[in-house]
Amino acid sequence: MTINHHPDPATLMAFSAGALEEPYATVIATHLAMSEAGRRALRQLETIGGALLETEGAAPMASGALDRLMDRLDDDAETAVIAPAANDNDIPLPLRRYLPGGMEAVRWKWTGPGVATADLAWGRDGKSRLMLLRVAGGRQVPEHGHGGQELTLILSGAYRDRFGLFARGDIADHDEDVEHQPIAEPGPDCICLVAVDARLTFRGRLMRALQPLFGI
Ligand code: ZN
Repeated sequence: MTINHHPDPATLMAFSAGALEEPYATVIATHLAMSEAGRRALRQLETIGGALLETEGAAPMASGALDRLMDRLDDDAETAVIAPAANDNDIPLPLRRYLPGGMEAVRWKWTGPGVATADLAWGRDGKSRLMLLRVAGGRQVPEHGHGGQELTLILSGAYRDRFGLFARGDIADHDEDVEHQPIAEPGPDCICLVAVDARLTFRGRLMRALQPLFGI
């Protein structure tokens, strides 16, 4: 598994500082469980951040809890590599509590032709939410802009948009200025873990009309 797309360093820093709402923190933790390079990047950022804090004379952060989390993520990454794809053991540790019955028990909601979603959790701010997005092979997610940050982690399958090919473990970290139209690669469904801050805004007239019906 080669992971080519990583979170923005600012997002990683916010994660490290505990400043992310639960939906975002869960996407980042799940990505880190799948990506050794991601964990390395986080450690580097924390080393830099710690050094900056020391120069500024601020109190250093307690790191014991973080170390324990990292150890757990390391263990989980090993199982993720060994486990065969597309079974429940393959659900990374930070995601398992949202999917107690595994992927088979997910109750999908039809969201459009070839597209389904399933809500997993809401942030305490009442706006951000964590959800699964499933796009059938060859189908496209309607072109859309974002009302806020959108973090997408690919769990299985792959999609392509103007930023390139996104496959298992890759993360797309988009802010409100980005508009894009992901198209699932031909073949198996593309299943993503998504955190969104506000409603997605679809561009087409038909999609705008349908949006309130599907609550997306
Ligand atoms: Zn998007």
